[in-house]
Amino acid sequence: MKHDKPKILLIEDDPPFRQLLATTLEHQDYAVSAFATGREGLNAARNEHPNLLILDLGLPDLDGQEVIRRLRLWSNLPILVLSARNQESDITLALDNGADDYLTKPFGNAELLSRIKALLRRVTAPALNEQMSFHAGDLRIELSRRRLFVGEREVHLTPIEFRLLTELVRHAGFVVTHRQLLEKVWGPSYVEHSHYLRIYMGQLRHKLEADPTRPRYLLTEAGVGYRLHDGEQ
Ligand code: CA
Repeated sequence: MKHDKPKILLIEDDPPFRQLLATTLEHQDYAVSAFATGREGLNAARNEHPNLLILDLGLPDLDGQEVIRRLRLWSNLPILVLSARNQESDITLALDNGADDYLTKPFGNAELLSRIKALLRRVTAPALNEQMSFHAGDLRIELSRRRLFVGEREVHLTPIEFRLLTELVRHAGFVVTHRQLLEKVWGPSYVEHSHYLRIYMGQLRHKLEADPTRPRYLLTEAGVGYRLHDGEQ
């Protein structure tokens, strides 16, 4: 019996690029439904039960941000946004609106496919519960006992450092925006205080990176946020 292929909904208004993406994904055994406008795409999201949405932010009818906002009113469909280069504020807004990850054009097929796989894997992965421990490379984070180990060495974290790390672990492998981190760790009135983040991320890197200036785990997404490398890519 044949397994159903994962179904990808693609919203991209540039015809040659849309065709190229669709062909690439079909060759990887995904079923692709492609549309040029936000409205058609939103209809398809309701009617076709896709597993993932790839969304270009610059669309002719509805802004991509509006597509995300409307979709998030009723759906938790994973959303991977595509953005032109040097559009960090658009990317950040898309993530804050509820997109899950992003790629900056131009991107390679390998990168595209690894992001898609990570998003589809997350849907089927069990929810992170507080009893779990998180492993990546030589990092081990025991969430319930609030303990962090780097190899055999236990590293002491302050409560804020631990909350910050926990928030990144919850989204391991995916970018978390400055705003999301500030809101979760410090509270809604701190969302503009990005210098807090810089300071605490610096401290965390000193504690758990072999070389804090060239981090392996706590990765910076310039102008957008941070990503905890989950060892999968
Ligand atoms: Ca476009």
